[in-house]
Amino acid sequence: MDKQKELDKIANEIVKCQKCPLGQQRTKAVSGEGYPNAQIMFVGEAPGKQEDLQGKPFVGTAGKLLDELILLIGLKRKDIFITNIVKCRPPANRDPLPQEIDFCLPYLERQIEIIQPKLIVTLGRHAMYQFLPDRFKISQVHGQPKKMINSKTGVSQVYYPVYHPAAVLYRPAWREVLEKDFKRIPKVLEKIS
Ligand code: URA
Repeated sequence: MDKQKELDKIANEIVKCQKCPLGQQRTKAVSGEGYPNAQIMFVGEAPGKQEDLQGKPFVGTAGKLLDELILLIGLKRKDIFITNIVKCRPPANRDPLPQEIDFCLPYLERQIEIIQPKLIVTLGRHAMYQFLPDRFKISQVHGQPKKMINSKTGVSQVYYPVYHPAAVLYRPAWREVLEKDFKRIPKVLEKIS
């Protein structure tokens, strides 16, 4: 399979998508970008202002921090794939509505199916709750790999929840925690068979 071609197909659908009202309000849709054979996929919540303007994920202040964290583990953007749960910016950066997530999630599911990452790093609690049970609290499970079987596909997938880089910008004390969690990623990856 030509993974890049398949990902481009999805991106082309996303730029035309009008399944929910966010489609009318966006400047640019943000499908995601990176290496089609990435072992690690980062999933955030939704595009912010800069992402909406540029059509690329994590290019604002939180994105700069994410770049630094990725560098910390010896990787660059070209080595990984970055995307979001919701591909268009919610107005004033509000949380995406359940219905918006429902419409958008199939795009992410297809991206995951194509890339088949060994590890999905969820950025923040909203991304985490799309994959991990509601009873999980990010303050308790961040930095711990969680293996889950997808109930629809039966595929086993390892997730690694971490705090959202934007949250760390408001709470500088969490930066150390986030850096520690990132530094563990290479070991976590090594252990996944
Ligand atoms: N925050 C997110 O969750 N995603 C982005 O792309 C940018 C900021």
